[in-house]
Amino acid sequence: MALMGQMMSAPLLISSIIKHAARYYGDTEIVSRRTEGDIHRYNYRECELRSRKLAQALAALGVQQGDRIGTLAWNGYRHLEIYYGVSGMGAVCHTINPRLFPEQIAYIINHAEDGYVFFDLTFLPLVEGVAAHCPKVKGWVLMSDRAHMPAESKVPLLCYEDLIDGQDGGYTWPTFDENTASSLCYTSGTTGNPKGALYSHRSTVLHSYGSALPDVLNCSARDVILPVVPMFHVNAWGLPYSVPLVGAKLVFPGAKLDGASLYELFEQEQVTFSAGVPTVWLGLLQHVQGNGLKFSSFHRTVIGGSAAPPAMIRALEALGVDVVHAWGMTEMSPLGTAGTLMAKHDALPDDEKHLILEKQGRVVFGVDMKIVDGDGEELPWDGKAFGDLHVRGPWVIDHYFRVDASPLVDGWFPTGDVATIDADGYMQITDRSKDVIKSGGEWISSIDIENVAAAHPAVHMAACISAFHPKWDERPLLVVVKKPGAEVTREELLAFFEGKVAKWWIPDDVVFTTEIPLTATGKMQKLKLREQFKDYRLPSA
Ligand code: ADP
Repeated sequence: MALMGQMMSAPLLISSIIKHAARYYGDTEIVSRRTEGDIHRYNYRECELRSRKLAQALAALGVQQGDRIGTLAWNGYRHLEIYYGVSGMGAVCHTINPRLFPEQIAYIINHAEDGYVFFDLTFLPLVEGVAAHCPKVKGWVLMSDRAHMPAESKVPLLCYEDLIDGQDGGYTWPTFDENTASSLCYTSGTTGNPKGALYSHRSTVLHSYGSALPDVLNCSARDVILPVVPMFHVNAWGLPYSVPLVGAKLVFPGAKLDGASLYELFEQEQVTFSAGVPTVWLGLLQHVQGNGLKFSSFHRTVIGGSAAPPAMIRALEALGVDVVHAWGMTEMSPLGTAGTLMAKHDALPDDEKHLILEKQGRVVFGVDMKIVDGDGEELPWDGKAFGDLHVRGPWVIDHYFRVDASPLVDGWFPTGDVATIDADGYMQITDRSKDVIKSGGEWISSIDIENVAAAHPAVHMAACISAFHPKWDERPLLVVVKKPGAEVTREELLAFFEGKVAKWWIPDDVVFTTEIPLTATGKMQKLKLREQFKDYRLPSA
């Protein structure tokens, strides 16, 4: 018989994170730009107390372990209290992406069977629109105080601050099985209905430890951390857990994610570290460069969600900000890989270092990955062979919420991404399998093409999609938004590709447009672009 260890068996619970932050970093600040318009400040001690009061209030409303509680909210301290209050009591914090279509939001609320939904002032019209379609919701809670409650509303509302004020905080966080569900997040569902990833306390706490490591998010108590990535999108990459876990000061930007507002908050609060998708940094860069500004404290950022264009990495570096390129997905809590250099790379010339930093990076302990060919055979790690990327680990999905069929293949989760892995284990995403351009049986990476285009000084944003070609089936078409006031012709842009990619990868045509549609998570919506250009006739066709 095995000899069992004799250490304490303490379940890994989310409440332990906020308890720890309150006890050991009690007066460390949490700063939020509120939807009410002002800046709110308090600390971890107050946050934990209010989270307990919220749990008490929910219990008084009849909320039980396992019940789902929805949120439609920006990054802010009340949202953080809901993260801890709801999961801490054993209920499930279900963050909903308010940028989805109202029909999708109603679908998600009904599928999850949310008992209560908490929402920010901004989303009152949205709530008034969907409430009638969500019969199972017992109450809609406006995340504000009495003074901000609307005089009239089509939906009966509860007031968040009233709920908190009604409690004395005499509540002890319960202890339960660490495998209990803690939170729920639906994928955007670019094809078909959104699907739910149901995280557990165990998976979340492990992910928080893993993601805070130096070669991943590298969070420290000395940092001031501003998550730009929304708390409604894969738990803001776990930052609402990993930041209190290390005891760093937390800054929430609320609804104002434009370059000027972010810059103001970065400077005012002396933010050192931030994380977000590339489209957010485009706005911030434009503001900072356009106005000849500098960052006085901001020195490190994690970019993920879509490929970070090399030109963006360089532009941030020129402003003194180191970029860590990370990859993950809703089904992975979300972190899978992050790209930092190893000691042996120190002596490399700058350009070679960058080729490594542009990759999506190495796995975090807790995630295992492989690439496979069409027959499921594992491919070599030579940085050249590319195939379907599969992952597994204790914070990777096993089943979608309320879907019987397993998404796994031989115990691995197929990510839907196509990637290479090099001998040092650096993974590079070539494409999403549905975005890859199949030209005459060979594959062209749309990300590579976009990265080259993004380096052209006149290009603000560029998407590369497949367009029909009678001989090659598909050929790359480049859709470009120019920077304000900048000029570039189709010919100049195509010439810019020469020598940078294989000749047959150069797009067949360029279309200039005023806007590239973005998904609810701020990624270029290529499905929509492909629909828009489905009858496009390439000059080469
Ligand atoms: P959705 O975009 O559908 O909401 P996720 O946010 O979970 O879902 O997106 C996960 C996907 O985003 C990954 O499978 C991958 O295609 C893409 N992705 C995430 N990070 C990166 C990155 N650094 N480079 C390229 N693609 C990325």
